[in-house]
Amino acid sequence: MSSSTDCIFCKIIQGDIPSAQVYEDEHVYAFLDISQVTKGHTLIIPKQHVTNIYNTDAEIASQLFARVPTIANAIKKAFKPAGLNILSNTDAFAGQSVFHLHIHLLPRYDKNDGFG
Ligand code: 5GP
Ligand code: ZN
Repeated sequence: MSSSTDCIFCKIIQGDIPSAQVYEDEHVYAFLDISQVTKGHTLIIPKQHVTNIYNTDAEIASQLFARVPTIANAIKKAFKPAGLNILSNTDAFAGQSVFHLHIHLLPRYDKNDGFG
């Protein structure tokens, strides 16, 4: 599995940086975002280091996106949001700050919940 030594998400996968795990399997790791824009804000990442969706092959993408329903339902059950936004910021102009592909799952509670 390829990783990048200066990537914080690779360090999270390896356990060198602690994280609050939501889900893990052979290909994918999910954990609570440190910033918690809304309660239960979760990131899903491939275990293989790829910078963003532009550099992701179909196999990694299908492994990653296939886990979204399971993790979304776990968040729904745990946090009981009114809705959920799913997004992936791609390149700095669009807000990407960590260059290891990640999908944000943002539970929504009301119009003034801090997102959107
Ligand atoms: P981006 O801005 O690239 O779309 O999202 C990166 C996310 O990673 C941000 O929401 C930020 O809060 C989160 N993040 C950055 N460093 C850490 C960390 O060390 N631990 C966790 N759990 N989240 C982090
Ligand atoms: Zn990485």
